[in-house]
Amino acid sequence: MAYTNSKLVNYTRISPNRSVNRNHKIDTISIHCVVGQCSVETLGSIFASTSKEASSNYGIGYDGRIGMYVEEKDRSWCTSSASNDNRAITIEVASDTYHPYRVNNAAYKSLIKLLVDICKRNGIKKLVWSTNKSERMNHLNGCNMTVHRDYANKSCPGDYLYNLHGQIAKEVNAQLGLGTSSTTKKTLYRVRKTWKDEKSQKGAFNDLSNAKKCADKNKGYSVFDESGKAVYTSKVTNSTSSFKVQISISDLNIRKGPGTNYAATGKFTGKGIFTIVETKQGTGSAKGWGKLKSGAGWIALDYTTRI
Ligand SMILES: [Zn+2]
Repeated sequence: MAYTNSKLVNYTRISPNRSVNRNHKIDTISIHCVVGQCSVETLGSIFASTSKEASSNYGIGYDGRIGMYVEEKDRSWCTSSASNDNRAITIEVASDTYHPYRVNNAAYKSLIKLLVDICKRNGIKKLVWSTNKSERMNHLNGCNMTVHRDYANKSCPGDYLYNLHGQIAKEVNAQLGLGTSSTTKKTLYRVRKTWKDEKSQKGAFNDLSNAKKCADKNKGYSVFDESGKAVYTSKVTNSTSSFKVQISISDLNIRKGPGTNYAATGKFTGKGIFTIVETKQGTGSAKGWGKLKSGAGWIALDYTTRI
């Protein structure tokens, strides 16, 4: 892979704090806050000090100028994680020294420009942000924006930039040509057992109520939004359809609930064929418990034969 550097760079001072030749292709962006409204030159002199053992690929000054300290082909020492820095372009952005570590408009504008440039040159089709730490750290669902606070006990990138990550992705993606389609596209609700279990998908719906109906027909299924968040879980807790059982003993207890821990109603099924409309595992019956269609209560399926 031929690595290039951004032509938007105004100032270059290569830091000794780097690992020559990254070991992973660039597929991630890590935005940091400097904790100081400094210039690209000041940042360069900080990263020039070997005792700091710190660097970033790029830095953006308070005035929006862009500095390069580690070429894209090399790994910066920025995010307290070698594996992250091997795959990420790291960008330090000049910020206030205090919470929420606000950045200037000029710096923010340059950040967007630089990100668009990085994505284009490295074949990153779009930026995907998640507010879920596990999704970020494991690059799930296409997530390709990581933050320093996930890897170290730090507030970096500061709440100001952290809370803007969704917006940053949106602005960058709009400039990558994804804007119109993503704004007009409706949310697709997917019905699956779990978000990760793509194969279990029963359907995808524009209409949430249709997705809910689908989930309700399928035991153990939920409706997930685009981000993989479960927005609805099937009301069917167990068996979806009724079935008939043969009972050959005359004194099978009917209980108020699915388990021997529920009181007996004092009634018995008697011998015969009965319809079960719901099942639950409960306690005290290896085959679980069945709810009688009559509404009389629950019986232990151990004493029945399904027909
Ligand atoms: Zn940081």
